[in-house]
Amino acid sequence: KLYNTIQDLKGSIRVFCRVRPAGTTGDSAASCLNLGTDGELAVYDKAGERKVYRFDRVFGGESTQEDVYEDVQTLIRSVMDGYNVCIFAYGQTGSGKTHTMTGSQVDDVRNRGINYRALDDLFALQAQREGETSYVITAQMLEIYNESIRDLLTEDQSAINKLDILSTQPSGLNVPGATQITVTNTSDVVTMMRVGASNRHSAETKMNERSSRSHQVLTIIVDGANQATGARTHACLHLVDLAGSERTDKSGVEGDRMREANSINTSLSALGTVMHSLASRSKHIPFRNSKLTELLADSLSGQAKVCMLMHVAPESTSHGETISTLNFGNRVA
Ligand code: ADP
Ligand code: MG
Repeated sequence: KLYNTIQDLKGSIRVFCRVRPAGTTGDSAASCLNLGTDGELAVYDKAGERKVYRFDRVFGGESTQEDVYEDVQTLIRSVMDGYNVCIFAYGQTGSGKTHTMTGSQVDDVRNRGINYRALDDLFALQAQREGETSYVITAQMLEIYNESIRDLLTEDQSAINKLDILSTQPSGLNVPGATQITVTNTSDVVTMMRVGASNRHSAETKMNERSSRSHQVLTIIVDGANQATGARTHACLHLVDLAGSERTDKSGVEGDRMREANSINTSLSALGTVMHSLASRSKHIPFRNSKLTELLADSLSGQAKVCMLMHVAPESTSHGETISTLNFGNRVA
Protein backbone atom coordinates (compact mmCIF):
# COMPACT_ATOMS: atom_id res chain seq x y z
CA LYS A 1 0.00 0.00 0.00
CA LEU A 2 1.25 3.45 -0.92
CA TYR A 3 0.98 6.13 1.71
CA ASN A 4 0.48 9.07 -0.57
CA THR A 5 -2.52 11.00 0.62
CA ILE A 6 -2.80 13.37 3.53
CA GLN A 7 -5.46 11.09 4.96
CA ASP A 8 -3.00 8.20 5.02
CA LEU A 9 -0.33 10.24 6.64
CA LYS A 10 -2.68 11.68 9.20
CA GLY A 11 -3.53 8.10 10.02
CA SER A 12 -0.01 7.64 11.36
CA ILE A 13 -0.38 10.36 14.01
CA ARG A 14 -2.90 9.61 16.70
CA VAL A 15 -3.86 12.02 19.45
CA PHE A 16 -5.52 10.85 22.66
CA CYS A 17 -6.45 12.87 25.70
CA ARG A 18 -6.40 11.65 29.31
CA VAL A 19 -8.09 13.55 32.11
CA ARG A 20 -6.54 13.08 35.53
CA PRO A 21 -8.99 12.23 38.34
CA ALA A 22 -9.98 15.31 40.36
CA GLY A 23 -8.18 16.13 43.57
CA THR A 24 -5.02 13.99 43.33
CA THR A 25 -2.80 17.05 43.69
CA GLY A 26 -4.77 18.55 46.57
CA ASP A 27 -6.58 21.10 44.42
CA SER A 28 -10.25 21.14 45.49
CA ALA A 29 -11.54 23.45 42.71
CA ALA A 30 -14.53 22.17 40.74
CA SER A 31 -14.02 20.47 37.39
CA CYS A 32 -14.26 22.54 34.23
CA LEU A 33 -14.35 19.52 31.92
CA ASN A 34 -17.06 17.32 30.54
CA LEU A 35 -16.53 14.16 28.53
CA GLY A 36 -18.73 13.71 25.50
CA THR A 37 -19.12 10.69 23.27
CA ASP A 38 -16.82 9.92 20.32
CA GLY A 39 -13.66 11.49 21.67
CA GLU A 40 -15.21 14.84 22.57
CA LEU A 41 -14.09 16.92 25.49
CA ALA A 42 -15.92 20.10 26.53
CA VAL A 43 -14.13 22.80 28.49
CA TYR A 44 -16.03 25.51 30.36
CA ASP A 45 -14.53 28.88 31.19
CA LYS A 46 -15.48 31.04 34.19
CA ALA A 47 -18.43 32.55 32.35
CA GLY A 48 -19.77 29.09 31.52
CA GLU A 49 -18.77 29.41 27.87
CA ARG A 50 -18.22 25.99 26.34
CA LYS A 51 -15.49 24.96 23.92
CA VAL A 52 -15.47 21.47 22.44
CA TYR A 53 -12.35 19.57 21.36
CA ARG A 54 -12.17 16.29 19.49
CA PHE A 55 -9.53 13.60 19.78
CA ASP A 56 -9.11 10.05 18.56
CA ARG A 57 -10.14 9.05 22.07
CA VAL A 58 -10.63 10.73 25.44
CA PHE A 59 -9.96 8.84 28.68
CA GLY A 60 -11.84 10.09 31.73
CA GLY A 61 -10.60 10.24 35.30
CA GLU A 62 -11.94 6.76 36.01
CA SER A 63 -9.93 5.12 33.20
CA THR A 64 -7.42 2.51 34.26
CA GLN A 65 -3.83 1.94 33.16
CA GLU A 66 -5.12 -1.12 31.33
CA ASP A 67 -7.76 0.91 29.44
CA VAL A 68 -5.09 3.28 28.16
CA TYR A 69 -2.69 0.48 27.28
CA GLU A 70 -5.36 -1.30 25.24
CA ASP A 71 -5.53 1.67 22.89
CA VAL A 72 -1.78 1.91 22.29
CA GLN A 73 -1.08 -1.82 22.22
CA THR A 74 -1.39 -2.32 18.46
CA LEU A 75 0.90 0.61 17.86
CA ILE A 76 3.48 -0.69 20.30
CA ARG A 77 3.36 -4.21 18.91
CA SER A 78 4.13 -2.87 15.41
CA VAL A 79 7.72 -2.21 16.52
CA MET A 80 8.20 -6.00 16.28
CA ASP A 81 7.34 -5.73 12.58
CA GLY A 82 9.94 -3.05 11.97
CA TYR A 83 7.98 0.17 12.46
CA ASN A 84 9.45 3.05 14.44
CA VAL A 85 6.99 4.21 17.06
CA CYS A 86 6.96 7.32 19.28
CA ILE A 87 4.59 7.81 22.18
CA PHE A 88 4.60 11.19 23.94
CA ALA A 89 3.00 12.21 27.22
CA TYR A 90 2.30 15.94 27.01
CA GLY A 91 0.75 18.24 29.62
CA GLN A 92 1.37 20.59 32.50
CA THR A 93 3.11 19.40 35.67
CA GLY A 94 0.65 17.45 37.81
CA SER A 95 -1.59 16.39 34.90
CA GLY A 96 -0.65 12.71 35.08
CA LYS A 97 2.10 12.18 32.47
CA THR A 98 4.35 10.12 34.71
CA HIS A 99 1.35 8.18 36.00
CA THR A 100 0.53 7.16 32.42
CA MET A 101 4.07 6.35 31.33
CA THR A 102 5.59 4.83 34.48
CA GLY A 103 2.81 4.58 37.06
CA SER A 104 2.82 6.04 40.52
CA GLN A 105 3.09 2.90 42.60
CA VAL A 106 5.36 0.66 40.67
CA ASP A 107 5.12 -2.20 43.18
CA ASP A 108 1.42 -2.39 42.44
CA VAL A 109 1.35 -4.24 39.13
CA ARG A 110 -2.11 -2.91 38.15
CA ASN A 111 -0.81 0.63 38.59
CA ARG A 112 2.11 0.13 36.21
CA GLY A 113 2.15 2.41 33.20
CA ILE A 114 2.84 2.03 29.51
CA ASN A 115 6.60 1.61 29.87
CA TYR A 116 6.26 -1.64 31.84
CA ARG A 117 3.27 -2.93 29.92
CA ALA A 118 4.96 -2.31 26.56
CA LEU A 119 8.03 -4.31 27.50
CA ASP A 120 5.94 -7.17 28.94
CA ASP A 121 3.98 -7.22 25.72
CA LEU A 122 7.13 -7.31 23.57
CA PHE A 123 8.49 -10.19 25.68
CA ALA A 124 5.21 -12.05 25.11
CA LEU A 125 5.50 -11.56 21.35
CA GLN A 126 9.15 -12.57 21.47
CA ALA A 127 8.16 -15.86 23.12
CA GLN A 128 5.20 -16.38 20.81
CA ARG A 129 7.33 -15.99 17.68
CA GLU A 130 10.17 -18.15 18.94
CA GLY A 131 11.36 -20.55 16.24
CA GLU A 132 10.16 -18.21 13.52
CA THR A 133 11.85 -14.88 14.28
CA SER A 134 14.50 -14.31 16.90
CA TYR A 135 14.45 -10.95 18.60
CA VAL A 136 16.91 -9.02 20.70
CA ILE A 137 15.30 -6.29 22.83
CA THR A 138 17.54 -3.52 24.13
CA ALA A 139 16.71 -0.49 26.23
CA GLN A 140 18.25 2.93 26.58
CA MET A 141 17.05 5.73 28.87
CA LEU A 142 18.02 9.34 28.36
CA GLU A 143 17.10 12.63 29.91
CA ILE A 144 17.15 15.92 28.03
CA TYR A 145 17.61 18.85 30.35
CA ASN A 146 18.46 22.38 29.18
CA GLU A 147 19.21 21.00 25.70
CA SER A 148 21.84 18.58 27.00
CA ILE A 149 21.56 14.81 27.06
CA ARG A 150 22.23 12.61 30.08
CA ASP A 151 22.46 8.85 30.28
CA LEU A 152 20.04 7.57 32.93
CA LEU A 153 21.26 3.97 32.78
CA THR A 154 24.93 4.55 33.42
CA GLU A 155 26.55 3.24 36.58
CA ASP A 156 29.31 5.77 36.11
CA GLN A 157 28.16 9.13 37.48
CA SER A 158 31.13 10.95 35.96
CA ALA A 159 30.09 9.95 32.45
CA ILE A 160 26.49 10.96 32.93
CA ASN A 161 26.52 14.34 31.21
CA LYS A 162 28.75 13.68 28.27
CA LEU A 163 26.45 12.53 25.49
CA ASP A 164 25.59 14.11 22.19
CA ILE A 165 23.71 13.25 19.02
CA LEU A 166 25.43 11.95 15.91
CA SER A 167 22.78 12.90 13.41
CA THR A 168 24.05 10.67 10.62
CA GLN A 169 22.94 7.61 12.59
CA PRO A 170 19.36 6.34 12.80
CA SER A 171 17.52 7.23 16.01
CA GLY A 172 18.14 4.79 18.82
CA LEU A 173 21.76 4.50 17.70
CA ASN A 174 22.43 8.21 17.33
CA VAL A 175 23.76 8.84 20.83
CA PRO A 176 27.17 7.15 20.85
CA GLY A 177 28.21 6.07 24.32
CA ALA A 178 24.68 5.80 25.72
CA THR A 179 24.26 2.73 27.92
CA GLN A 180 22.14 0.05 26.26
CA ILE A 181 20.87 -2.89 28.27
CA THR A 182 19.53 -6.10 26.79
CA VAL A 183 16.33 -7.02 28.59
CA THR A 184 14.66 -10.41 28.51
CA ASN A 185 12.07 -10.34 31.29
CA THR A 186 10.05 -8.15 33.64
CA SER A 187 12.59 -8.38 36.42
CA ASP A 188 15.33 -6.97 34.12
CA VAL A 189 12.96 -4.10 33.39
CA VAL A 190 12.20 -3.39 37.05
CA THR A 191 15.93 -3.33 37.82
CA MET A 192 16.60 -1.03 34.87
CA MET A 193 13.80 1.37 35.87
CA ARG A 194 15.28 1.59 39.38
CA VAL A 195 18.69 2.58 37.99
CA GLY A 196 17.02 5.19 35.78
CA ALA A 197 14.93 6.59 38.61
CA SER A 198 17.91 6.78 40.94
CA ASN A 199 20.08 8.57 38.36
CA ARG A 200 17.25 10.96 37.74
CA HIS A 201 16.78 11.48 41.43
CA SER A 202 20.44 12.19 42.14
CA ALA A 203 20.31 15.20 39.86
CA GLU A 204 17.04 16.26 41.40
CA THR A 205 18.40 16.73 44.90
CA LYS A 206 20.79 19.29 43.47
CA MET A 207 18.09 21.01 41.51
CA ASN A 208 14.66 20.87 43.06
CA GLU A 209 11.86 19.26 41.02
CA ARG A 210 14.04 18.82 38.02
CA SER A 211 12.02 15.90 36.66
CA SER A 212 9.18 18.18 35.66
CA ARG A 213 11.59 20.33 33.69
CA SER A 214 13.33 17.60 31.71
CA HIS A 215 12.21 15.11 29.09
CA GLN A 216 12.68 11.42 29.82
CA VAL A 217 13.10 9.23 26.76
CA LEU A 218 12.97 5.47 27.19
CA THR A 219 13.96 3.84 23.91
CA ILE A 220 13.31 0.18 23.23
CA ILE A 221 15.38 -1.11 20.32
CA VAL A 222 14.07 -4.25 18.66
CA ASP A 223 16.22 -6.29 16.30
CA GLY A 224 14.55 -9.21 14.61
CA ALA A 225 15.95 -11.95 12.39
CA ASN A 226 13.67 -14.27 10.48
CA GLN A 227 15.07 -17.74 10.99
CA ALA A 228 13.94 -19.12 7.64
CA THR A 229 14.79 -16.23 5.32
CA GLY A 230 17.42 -14.39 7.35
CA ALA A 231 15.48 -11.14 6.76
CA ARG A 232 16.22 -8.60 9.46
CA THR A 233 14.21 -5.80 11.06
CA HIS A 234 15.49 -2.97 13.21
CA ALA A 235 13.08 -0.54 14.85
CA CYS A 236 12.72 1.68 17.88
CA LEU A 237 9.93 2.39 20.28
CA HIS A 238 10.41 5.73 22.04
CA LEU A 239 8.38 6.31 25.19
CA VAL A 240 8.65 9.97 26.11
CA ASP A 241 7.58 11.64 29.37
CA LEU A 242 7.85 15.30 28.34
CA ALA A 243 8.77 18.25 30.54
CA GLY A 244 5.79 20.13 31.99
CA SER A 245 4.21 22.31 29.33
CA GLU A 246 3.11 25.09 31.71
CA ARG A 247 4.29 28.51 30.80
CA THR A 248 6.58 29.92 33.42
CA ASP A 249 5.75 33.45 34.42
CA LYS A 250 8.91 35.04 33.12
CA SER A 251 8.61 38.21 35.15
CA GLY A 252 11.21 38.15 37.89
CA VAL A 253 12.62 34.82 36.68
CA GLU A 254 16.26 34.73 35.77
CA GLY A 255 19.34 32.51 35.63
CA ASP A 256 18.70 28.75 35.79
CA ARG A 257 14.91 29.08 35.90
CA MET A 258 14.89 31.27 32.82
CA ARG A 259 17.21 28.91 30.97
CA GLU A 260 15.00 25.94 31.87
CA ALA A 261 11.84 27.72 30.78
CA ASN A 262 13.40 28.74 27.48
CA SER A 263 14.72 25.30 26.64
CA ILE A 264 11.40 23.60 27.44
CA ASN A 265 9.62 26.13 25.32
CA THR A 266 12.09 25.58 22.48
CA SER A 267 11.77 21.82 22.50
CA LEU A 268 7.99 21.60 22.91
CA SER A 269 7.35 24.11 20.17
CA ALA A 270 9.91 22.33 17.95
CA LEU A 271 8.01 19.10 18.57
CA GLY A 272 4.71 20.77 17.69
CA THR A 273 6.16 22.22 14.51
CA VAL A 274 7.68 18.89 13.44
CA MET A 275 4.39 17.05 13.96
CA HIS A 276 2.44 19.75 12.19
CA SER A 277 4.88 19.65 9.26
CA LEU A 278 4.55 15.88 9.06
CA ALA A 279 0.75 16.02 9.18
CA SER A 280 0.64 18.68 6.48
CA ARG A 281 3.26 16.89 4.36
CA SER A 282 5.62 19.80 4.36
CA LYS A 283 8.86 19.25 2.39
CA HIS A 284 11.11 20.67 5.03
CA ILE A 285 10.78 19.14 8.48
CA PRO A 286 12.78 21.21 10.99
CA PHE A 287 14.22 18.39 13.13
CA ARG A 288 17.35 20.33 14.01
CA ASN A 289 15.57 22.96 16.09
CA SER A 290 15.84 21.02 19.36
CA LYS A 291 17.69 18.06 20.86
CA LEU A 292 14.40 16.24 21.36
CA THR A 293 13.35 16.34 17.71
CA GLU A 294 16.91 15.69 16.55
CA LEU A 295 17.11 12.63 18.80
CA LEU A 296 13.86 11.23 17.38
CA ALA A 297 14.17 12.54 13.82
CA ASP A 298 14.14 9.27 12.02
CA SER A 299 11.47 7.79 14.25
CA LEU A 300 9.17 10.69 13.44
CA SER A 301 9.45 10.48 9.67
CA GLY A 302 8.85 7.98 6.90
CA GLN A 303 6.61 5.12 8.00
CA ALA A 304 6.89 5.98 11.68
CA LYS A 305 3.83 5.86 13.89
CA VAL A 306 3.28 8.58 16.43
CA CYS A 307 0.89 8.84 19.33
CA MET A 308 0.43 11.96 21.45
CA LEU A 309 -1.14 11.45 24.85
CA MET A 310 -2.40 14.86 25.93
CA HIS A 311 -2.84 15.13 29.70
CA VAL A 312 -5.11 17.61 31.42
CA ALA A 313 -6.06 18.39 35.01
CA PRO A 314 -9.82 18.72 35.50
CA GLU A 315 -9.83 21.56 38.05
CA SER A 316 -11.00 24.99 36.89
CA THR A 317 -7.80 26.48 38.30
CA SER A 318 -5.98 24.78 35.40
CA HIS A 319 -8.35 26.09 32.72
CA GLY A 320 -5.71 28.17 30.92
CA GLU A 321 -3.12 25.38 30.78
CA THR A 322 -5.80 22.88 29.77
CA ILE A 323 -6.83 25.04 26.80
CA SER A 324 -3.20 25.44 25.78
CA THR A 325 -2.61 21.65 25.98
CA LEU A 326 -5.75 20.88 23.98
CA ASN A 327 -4.81 23.45 21.34
CA PHE A 328 -1.38 21.85 21.02
CA GLY A 329 -3.05 18.47 20.51
CA ASN A 330 -5.42 19.83 17.91
CA ARG A 331 -2.61 21.48 15.97
CA VAL A 332 -0.74 18.23 15.48
CA ALA A 333 -3.80 16.08 14.79
P1 ADP B 1 3.02 14.77 35.88
O1 ADP B 1 4.00 13.68 35.62
O2 ADP B 1 2.27 15.21 34.67
O3 ADP B 1 3.63 15.93 36.61
P2 ADP B 1 1.92 12.90 37.80
O4 ADP B 1 1.85 11.67 36.95
O5 ADP B 1 3.06 12.99 38.73
O6 ADP B 1 1.89 14.20 36.88
O7 ADP B 1 0.50 13.04 38.54
C1 ADP B 1 0.27 13.98 39.57
C2 ADP B 1 -0.41 13.28 40.74
O8 ADP B 1 -1.69 12.76 40.36
C3 ADP B 1 0.39 12.08 41.25
O9 ADP B 1 0.22 12.00 42.64
C4 ADP B 1 -0.29 10.91 40.56
O10 ADP B 1 -0.13 9.74 41.32
C5 ADP B 1 -1.73 11.34 40.48
N1 ADP B 1 -2.40 10.81 39.28
C6 ADP B 1 -2.19 11.23 38.01
N2 ADP B 1 -2.97 10.58 37.14
C7 ADP B 1 -3.70 9.70 37.86
C8 ADP B 1 -4.69 8.71 37.54
N3 ADP B 1 -5.10 8.52 36.27
N4 ADP B 1 -5.22 7.99 38.55
C9 ADP B 1 -4.81 8.18 39.83
N5 ADP B 1 -3.88 9.09 40.20
C10 ADP B 1 -3.32 9.85 39.23
MG1 MG C 1 6.07 13.73 35.86
